[in-house]
Amino acid sequence: MIADPKILILEDDSTDADLLCRQLKKSGLNFTFQLVQTRIAYELALANFIPDIILSDYSMPSFDAETAFDIKQISHPQIPFIIVSGFIGEENVVELIKKGVTDYVSKNTLVSLSAKIKRALRDTEIAAEKLITDERLRAQTAELIDLNAELEERVTNRTKALVESEYRFRNMMETIPQIAWTNTMAGTVNFFNQRWYDYTGLNPETDNWDIEVFIHPDDLKDSLNKFRQIRKTNQGGEFQIRGKRADGTYRWHLLRLMPIKSIDGKMQLWVGTATDIQELRLLQQQKDDFISIASHELRTPMTSLKATLQMLDRIKNKPSAPILPALIEQANKSSEKVNALIEDLLNASKANEGQLNIQAKRMVVFNVAEECIRQYKTESLRIEVTGDRTVAVLADAARIEQVLVNFFNNAAKYAQSSDKVSVHIEKIDDSVKVSVIDHGPGIPPEKLRYLFDRYYRADSSGSRYAGLGLGLFICTEIIKKHKGQIGVNSELGNGSTFWFTLPVFSA
Ligand code: ADP
Repeated sequence: MIADPKILILEDDSTDADLLCRQLKKSGLNFTFQLVQTRIAYELALANFIPDIILSDYSMPSFDAETAFDIKQISHPQIPFIIVSGFIGEENVVELIKKGVTDYVSKNTLVSLSAKIKRALRDTEIAAEKLITDERLRAQTAELIDLNAELEERVTNRTKALVESEYRFRNMMETIPQIAWTNTMAGTVNFFNQRWYDYTGLNPETDNWDIEVFIHPDDLKDSLNKFRQIRKTNQGGEFQIRGKRADGTYRWHLLRLMPIKSIDGKMQLWVGTATDIQELRLLQQQKDDFISIASHELRTPMTSLKATLQMLDRIKNKPSAPILPALIEQANKSSEKVNALIEDLLNASKANEGQLNIQAKRMVVFNVAEECIRQYKTESLRIEVTGDRTVAVLADAARIEQVLVNFFNNAAKYAQSSDKVSVHIEKIDDSVKVSVIDHGPGIPPEKLRYLFDRYYRADSSGSRYAGLGLGLFICTEIIKKHKGQIGVNSELGNGSTFWFTLPVFSA
């Protein structure tokens, strides 16, 4: 409790005030006081003296306790206010206490005043302390609420950012054209994109989706070793394997493993991709085959040419030797063969770059075919031309002859059993169709669609007949340049018909 409380006494009767002070001192209360009798003095004392408690007479000639209480409530609501009065009546006391007056003491029972003052001061103190505690609590609660809200916001933002980045990552994994997956640092696969399920036909819910079911058994050991090595380096790497498709066939894939690191460089997971390189591998294979065929094809006439030249060298001083003309003819044939091969190579490379030169003029197809057959000298092949004699096209006659000669050469090489070859010309709507028909062994149906590809040779042993697998590819490019079509109809045992069409020239 406050040691020496300051008491403001509002009393118009100074005898009563003395009595009151004496009584308080008697009860052992140490206090200082100020006595006021008017409203002005009361208001000044409230502002300057700032009492700890107010003792007020109930009614004074110029003032009354109720007004005094109301004034005090405005500026100092915490100061206890006790009415000390002669007689005010029970109801008035109840009314005043209801209003907030702290207590009431009758002037006749002043002995109880000291105890009431003490209690009022203690209550005020407790109330003040409670107010401070409440205020502190309120501030702390407000701080906590703010902190909580801030934390909640941070967690929400963080979660949102994570969800978004996860969503972006998954999206990216779904949009790339490759099979993709992620490996944990321990090596287990924890995600596959849809392409994996499309390619393998596995069901994400029910099937064992381990990467090992994908890899060809012959590649498995090696690839697991490579996986391990790459994971040790923490830098990523790649290798090739055959991957099993839903239909059970295997296709070559390039497997790439890349580490994903956090901002501080810590390894987090591995991202793997498998790119289908089957076509690339086939092309590579075809290219390798082509190089070996081309070297072989060039070596044969070159060897023959070298041998002929050696023989010519031996008889150089005998210009009348009977073998001389045959040797010269042989040398010519060999060099023509080399020339033809080089010509094919050049044409194929030009065709590939779309640079085949075409000088189109009006030509009657029948005449061009007839002239081509006349110039095409071969002992073994009888060629005849039938069909439309008048239909004309806008084309490069030399290039069209090149196509026909290629068809004739192929017939001579691959349809040796055919006693004759026919060229048939027919006009169909706005096109003219030129067919070269042989009665050779025909071509297996599964090979037909590849015949016009570059480097393709149906007899892949490649050694029976000379050729680079370029002839039909060059023909295709020539016909394409003329806006025509090219194709083949063939049946095993029933010969082949190689044909092309050209738009009819109508002027
Ligand atoms: P090349 O004759 O140099 O091999 P081509 O592109 O001219 O190349 O022919 C491709 C393949 O088509 C040949 O290797 C051959 O297997 C097949 N072929 C072409 N013409 C015939 C034909 N008339 N009869 C059977 N097979 C043929």
